[in-house]
Amino acid sequence: MNSRLREIPYNYTSFSDGEIVSRLIGQEAWRILEDLREQRVTGRSARMLFEVLGDLWVVERNPYIQDDLARDKHRREALWNALDHRLNDISARAEGNALVLRLLDNTREAVRTFTRQFDEDLQLRKKSEKRLLKITARDNVDFSAYARIAHITDASDWRVEIPFVVLYPADESEVQRMVAACRELGLAIIPRGGGTGYTGGAIPLRRHTAVINTEKLEQTSAIEMITPTGLNSAVPSMVAGAGVVTKVVADAADAAGLVFAVDPTSMDASTIGGNIAMNAGGKKRYSGVQPWII
Ligand SMILES: Cc1cc2nc3c(=O)[nH]c(=O)nc-3n(C[C@H](O)[C@H](O)[C@H](O)COP(=O)(O)OP(=O)(O)OC[C@H]3O[C@@H](n4cnc5c(N)ncnc54)[C@H](O)[C@@H]3O)c2cc1C
Repeated sequence: MNSRLREIPYNYTSFSDGEIVSRLIGQEAWRILEDLREQRVTGRSARMLFEVLGDLWVVERNPYIQDDLARDKHRREALWNALDHRLNDISARAEGNALVLRLLDNTREAVRTFTRQFDEDLQLRKKSEKRLLKITARDNVDFSAYARIAHITDASDWRVEIPFVVLYPADESEVQRMVAACRELGLAIIPRGGGTGYTGGAIPLRRHTAVINTEKLEQTSAIEMITPTGLNSAVPSMVAGAGVVTKVVADAADAAGLVFAVDPTSMDASTIGGNIAMNAGGKKRYSGVQPWII
C-alpha cells in the first residue's frame, strides 16, 4: 500500500494521514501502522481503523457536524456505538497480534477521550454562554459553526484549532469584561481585526479559544491638534477604535489635507488594532511622514 496516499476517509483537511494518526492516537501508532504494513498485516482491519479515525477527524474538524450531533442525542449515540462496533470487529480479527492490540488500545482510548470531551465541550458551551451573556448582547456571543469556521484562519491560511466561540464586543468596557470572563472560564484569547495578517497571529492554537473580533469597535473622533506625551509640538491626531478599518483613517486624513502614513496594501480590510499589533507599514511608512495613532 502506498503510504503517500490518503487512506483516512473524509480527510479533506490539510493534515496528512500521519499527522491525523499522531494527533488522535499518538506518534507511536503511526510507526506501528508502518510496521504492520511491512508485515502486510493490513487490509480490512486497517480500513476499519482508518474509518474510525476518519469519523473522529471529520467531527473534530467540522463544526457543522458537531452542531448537528450536539442537537441530536440519538444520532450522537448511534455514531459512538458504530465506532465501538468497528473496534470490536478489529479486535475479533486481531488473532493476538500484539501490535494490532496496542493500536486497538490506543484507538479505544482516543474514542473514549473524544466522546468525553464532546460532552464536556457542550457543558462548557452552556456555562460560557451564561457567563458571557451577562456582559453583552446575544448577537455578540457566537458559537455557530459559521462564525467558528470563519475565524479559523487569517491570510496565512494556516489552520490548527477551530475557535470555541467568537465574541464581538460592542465597546471597550465589554472587551475588558470579556477578557476577565474568558480567563475565569479557562479559555485562551485571540484578538482579531481584519484577519489580513500573514503570520498566523490570529489563529487559534488551543482547543478552547475565544476569538475576540473587534469589528464593532469602530468609533472615530474628528482630527484635532494634540501634543503627544514626549513631544513638544502638537500633531494632527484622531481617536480610533481598535476595529476601525485602516482606509477609514486614511480617508479622514486625506479629507483634512493630511497623509496617514500607515498604508498597508491591505488597508481596505485591515484594522488599526491589527496595524499596531503587527507594526504594519506600507509605501509611505518610511518617507518621513509620522503616523500618529491614539
Ligand atoms: C493583500 C495584503 C497586503 C498586505 N500588505 C501589507 C503591507 O503593505 N504592509 C504591512 O505591514 N502589512 C501588510 N499586510 C499584512 C496585514 O495586512 C497587516 O499586518 C495588518 O496590520 C493586519 O491587520 P488586521 O486588522 O488584518 O489584523 P489581524 O490579521 O486580524 O491580526 C493580526 C495580529 O494582530 C493581533 N491583533 C489584531 N487586533 C488586535 C487588537 N485590537 N489588540 C491586540 N492585538 C490585535 C492579532 O491577534 C494577530 O496576532 C498585508 C496583508 C495582505 C493580505
